[in-house]
Amino acid sequence: MAFTNEQLERYSRHIILKEIGVKGQKKLLNAKFLINDACVMEKKPLSHAGIIRFKGQLTTILPGEGPCYRCIFQSPPPKDAVPTCKEAGVIGAMGGVIGSLQAMEAVKYITGAGELLSGYLLTYDALKMEFRKIKLPPRGKGCAVCSDTPTITKLIDYEQAACELKH
Ligand SMILES: [Zn+2]
Repeated sequence: MAFTNEQLERYSRHIILKEIGVKGQKKLLNAKFLINDACVMEKKPLSHAGIIRFKGQLTTILPGEGPCYRCIFQSPPPKDAVPTCKEAGVIGAMGGVIGSLQAMEAVKYITGAGELLSGYLLTYDALKMEFRKIKLPPRGKGCAVCSDTPTITKLIDYEQAACELKH
């Protein structure tokens, strides 16, 4: 599904700790960058998470305070560089574990209780039953969207960009 720039601008104003579901992992990867950029531009918090096979990860992005998704991953991977969910496999229970942790981040954000995962990536290895909290680099330096001199100032329509590359 392609969005017009006007739609993206409008939808971005309604994103608070919620990711838009987009079918297909390759589109979803692009959507993660799109949603991150929208949240940074609108200064809205974002709970990012990902799962594949027996591994999961999550972080909470607080624009202006901690690193954003683009600070960590910079740009979407090349086409076909990452296996789809269908190819790699996703276990429903992993979604339950990581989704519940995201919900707790939302509760903590709303109530102001405890410490959020801003500046940290929590990883979960279900095979080893091991959680790790990894400190992320600080926000901004060289980031295309959240640095003091961003090079991305409008939302990128990745699907439109991909279509333009084909012609
Ligand atoms: Zn950033």
